[in-house]
Amino acid sequence: MPDLFSPEANPVPLSVLAPAPLTDDAFARSATLMQEARTLFPGGVNSPVRAFGSVGGSPVVMARAEGPYLWDEDGNRYIDYVGSWGPAILGHSHPDVIQAVQHTAAQGLSFGTPNALENALAKSVLRLMPHLARIRFVNSGTEAVLSVIRLARAATGRSKLIKFEGCYHGHADALLLKAGSGATTLGVPNSAGVTANTVGDTLLAEFNNLASVEACFKAHPDAIAALLVEPVAGNMGLISPEPGFLQGLRQLCTQYGALLVFDEVMTGFRVALGGAAQLYGVQPDITALGKIIGGGMPVGAYAATEALMNWVSPAGPMYQAGTLSGNPVAMAAGLATLQALSAPGCWQRAADASEQLTNGMLSLCKQSGITACGGFVGAMAGLFFAEGPVKNYADALKADTQRYARFFHAMLRRGVYLPPSQFEAWFVSSAHTPDVITATLACVREALIESAA
Ligand code: PLP
Repeated sequence: MPDLFSPEANPVPLSVLAPAPLTDDAFARSATLMQEARTLFPGGVNSPVRAFGSVGGSPVVMARAEGPYLWDEDGNRYIDYVGSWGPAILGHSHPDVIQAVQHTAAQGLSFGTPNALENALAKSVLRLMPHLARIRFVNSGTEAVLSVIRLARAATGRSKLIKFEGCYHGHADALLLKAGSGATTLGVPNSAGVTANTVGDTLLAEFNNLASVEACFKAHPDAIAALLVEPVAGNMGLISPEPGFLQGLRQLCTQYGALLVFDEVMTGFRVALGGAAQLYGVQPDITALGKIIGGGMPVGAYAATEALMNWVSPAGPMYQAGTLSGNPVAMAAGLATLQALSAPGCWQRAADASEQLTNGMLSLCKQSGITACGGFVGAMAGLFFAEGPVKNYADALKADTQRYARFFHAMLRRGVYLPPSQFEAWFVSSAHTPDVITATLACVREALIESAA
């Protein structure tokens, strides 16, 4: 491998070095806690990707988070690029958010009635996303998407859905499909317990391939209620929409009378303050939100025009409800997050960090002759150990997952916490200062060398 410590065009000053890698002993308490967790939870976790299934080894149990850092139960510190899978765009434990949560919690945790913070957060969201007029808060991204499916079917009187291979929309039954089927083929369930009937109305198309979408519409011209898309795909690694792709989806949905749904659970407030709809200038009919909107508390939402949202109970006949929906503490966390993020320069700092990280990594890979490609959109970044370009799920699957697993562990031992899968986006925050990114790149330089073998 060429010398990554040669001074030529090095994105990391040679004086900045990675810390010495941690040894197994440094993770002793995490290992003990995970041993116990495996006797309590399926696979030892409460959400599957936390289990390190695709990178191997035992998960690190985190104890504390602040700014760009996590600390584990053994006291090791990590620069964090998971950001709680997206919510932590300000970094962790932003003082405004913590203060808002503490202040609100002291007034009572839940009333089961309307509260003023719901109005305040709704106004904040609708101001940032002016194509939306009415919103309904729920408790997770999954809940938002499954409500969106019901709304689309209610409003159109149609039953079929189109989704893209490799796009994830939470664990609603109708969308848990095995990727890889032909574009117009009816979906096949890929989770035990999801029946063929449940997904029988879901069609699969290929991301960045408008012809595959058109084929679905042509096969069922009057039956498609909605097309759901992650406008920037983040659940098969980071994949940007090709120029014209989202515009093409808009045009096809309009032509065939289907509703265009942007699942902005991940991209909302992250790829741009106004989300992907603002960034790409494409107006969806319905938007699903989650993650950042709750600032680290469990919140999701779906939103659309007044006419569409008037289908939702009690304004209309589509039933949807939630005991803890609009919870005041969660609303306060979301509101404080959006307010801080909207302050001049804040979102841009996160986007700049994402750019510095991506360009630095790609330059180190290039210099070392390691096959890699990647990119960033706002404060989302991604790196594939693949030749590229990666435009869809089939391309993503060509990435070298073994190399990613080695790279992941080499980074973890140097104090950088990456998503434990090649097929996840990296989440950057406004707390990732240029110095933090430089320190990360110093680890990347050494981890690339170590994981090359
Ligand atoms: N939609 C997208 C695009 C997501 O990335 C996710 C979760 O990662 C969801 C929906 C589901 O959200 P939640 O995990 O809050 O249920």
